[in-house]
Amino acid sequence: MCAPEFYGVNYVINPWMEGNVGRAARDRARSQWEGLRDALSKLADIEFVEPADGLPDMPFVANAGLVYGDVFIPSRFRFPQRQGESEHFEEWFRAHGYAIEALQDSGSFEGEGDALFQPDEALLWCGYGVRTSLQVYKDIAERIGVEIALLRLVDERFYHLDTCFCPLPGGRVMYFPDAFDQDSRALIRERVPKENRIEVPATDALRFACNAVVVGDTLVSNYAGSRLRARLSDCGYAIETCPLDEFMLAGGAAKCLVLNLKHEVFVAPDDALQAGSRVCDRLVEIQGQLLDTGLMNEVLDCVTEGGGSFEVEEFHAGLRHDQESHASVRVVAPSPSKLNTIVGRLLQLGARVPEEEVNALCEIVTKDGVAPRDFYSTTIYPTDVRVEGEWIRARGQRMDVMLVVRDTADGHEVESRLLRDLRKGDRVVCGIHGIRIQDRLPADTDSSFEFMASSVSSERRVELVVENIAWEMRRIREREGKIVIVAGPVVIHTGGGPYLAKLIEMGYVQALLGGNAIAVHDIESDLYGTSLGVDLARGANIHGGHRHHLQAINRVRECGGIAQAVEQGVIRGGVMYECVRNGVPFSLAGSIRDDGPLPETRMDLLAAQDEYAQLIEGADMILMLSTMLHAIGTGNMTPAGVRLICVDISPAVVTKLADRGSVESTGVVTDVGLFLNLLTAKLSE
Ligand code: NAD
Repeated sequence: MCAPEFYGVNYVINPWMEGNVGRAARDRARSQWEGLRDALSKLADIEFVEPADGLPDMPFVANAGLVYGDVFIPSRFRFPQRQGESEHFEEWFRAHGYAIEALQDSGSFEGEGDALFQPDEALLWCGYGVRTSLQVYKDIAERIGVEIALLRLVDERFYHLDTCFCPLPGGRVMYFPDAFDQDSRALIRERVPKENRIEVPATDALRFACNAVVVGDTLVSNYAGSRLRARLSDCGYAIETCPLDEFMLAGGAAKCLVLNLKHEVFVAPDDALQAGSRVCDRLVEIQGQLLDTGLMNEVLDCVTEGGGSFEVEEFHAGLRHDQESHASVRVVAPSPSKLNTIVGRLLQLGARVPEEEVNALCEIVTKDGVAPRDFYSTTIYPTDVRVEGEWIRARGQRMDVMLVVRDTADGHEVESRLLRDLRKGDRVVCGIHGIRIQDRLPADTDSSFEFMASSVSSERRVELVVENIAWEMRRIREREGKIVIVAGPVVIHTGGGPYLAKLIEMGYVQALLGGNAIAVHDIESDLYGTSLGVDLARGANIHGGHRHHLQAINRVRECGGIAQAVEQGVIRGGVMYECVRNGVPFSLAGSIRDDGPLPETRMDLLAAQDEYAQLIEGADMILMLSTMLHAIGTGNMTPAGVRLICVDISPAVVTKLADRGSVESTGVVTDVGLFLNLLTAKLSE
């Protein structure tokens, strides 16, 4: 232990310290510490390390390092505020005859705060994610030859493992589940049978009940609620509490104030070492607009969210707007399978594994429509696959499909294939090796524009966006390119129908995708001047108008189809009329909501998906107008490189659609009727 001579909250390095700077009363701390010391001295021999002025956290000796037999592994504190403690602790251990074994490599390690032995077992519970870095456990595991169980901490309030986890004799553990991520909770459940797990509620955990010093069968801690006490006594433990609230101001209590000097040495049998967690790592490289687009953040978040940790080994920043940055990041994970998952996600963000010039692994499909389990699924970005030493660009790039390697007379081919189209014998690319994603474009952080939601100045901004879109559309039309419109019935309800019809008439639409409703409402408005019974000119309900949309469907069915209804002069204007008149192909995909449906509506969804895919092929621009369902469906089929414009009143829908991590998508949060009005006006100028 270390007396709190110079204890205080002088800085903030954990959430407990926030608002407590200068508030710890040293005298009171001293008497609480003495209470703990006296309680423990009845149970164990205590040694003391001399406190040092200017190191207010030094009483929290649990973080000095880890003792194992006569070996002391010193900590490497994460924060500079505590780094000065190390020399004092090392000096003490050296003077007391311990062998000091410094950790190799980098990464921080906060001693017994994060590494706790299971009594009487060759098992070390290892916390990481807040203070201690995952990578240090590779070294520690090799040094001490016990099985290690890696637990990721996810709540900054429980920044050390000993604040929320306490191994107990008899194979039990006491812990606060919410402090850990899902996999770590699963690991605890796997490693410790139910009857041996004592789960502590937040009320106890936040009073540092898990931060207990365990000596034999006695637990000494700041607090234990009545239920917890009862459970612990039922298990045969004695509980002593010592108030330590003065130390809680700094985020510590009983266990933090004590470092165990005696651990019996157990060596785990080889098979247990194999079964335990294994820290592994891999170097990945990423290049591009890493800083200004936030891609670097995305990469690092992807590592931590995947349960790993990272070390940026090299970073060359692009100093000008037009310069790319380059980073080499070592990704560390608690197991090879987690490492593969994380690296797989990083590859999708455009990272590369440099040492890996290996061929992609292919597995054979054994059942039609079923992929091998470890299949690689695609992104929207151009992808190369390494087959027999050669990088081959996949054809038909789109999201969420499988890659099939085929032999042809001229060599190999890599083809995108829908899950349902896989056939027995197909060679499907699996795993993450030998796959390279090209040209991942940076996300345009400023790609969404709000219209309705904000001020006058942003109305002007929407005008500017529309002006830009109009300019692009004009250029596409001039070079005889392809613009595809995906539209929902809201287009008609909001009075946008005539404008959309005008765009078709002016030659700005090369294909129209939608559902039953856009066509039904459009035809209803042409036949009766209403949309779902609402008079579009006056905005009022028409008596008996609710029948109109069924009547419209009925009329079209009577004619045999939309084209026939146009030919027979039944439909005389509107969106569908212009499509038929101008030979613009359309596809209406069915849904469970559909009335009728119209003869053209494809209720066979697989056929509808295929038709959509066919119509968007070669598109230069896709304009998605107020239909979440069909817009998302279309977005998923669209490869990178196609300009996407998504117009919707709901920012969430726009964000979902426009967030393809690319500059090529623009979201406009506005009323679709107004948007179409503005766009047509610009294109008619
Ligand atoms: P959806 O929920 O997928 O999309 C509607 C979108 O419109 C939403 O994202 C919403 O935020 C947006 N929106 C609402 N008001 C807006 C405005 N003023 N300006 C801009 N955006 C606005 O629904 P959907 O695409 O309309 O319909 C889903 C499916 O149901 C389609 O297949 C459709 O054909 C079918 N449907 C059928 C019938 C019918 O047959 N009678 C009627 C309605 C819908």
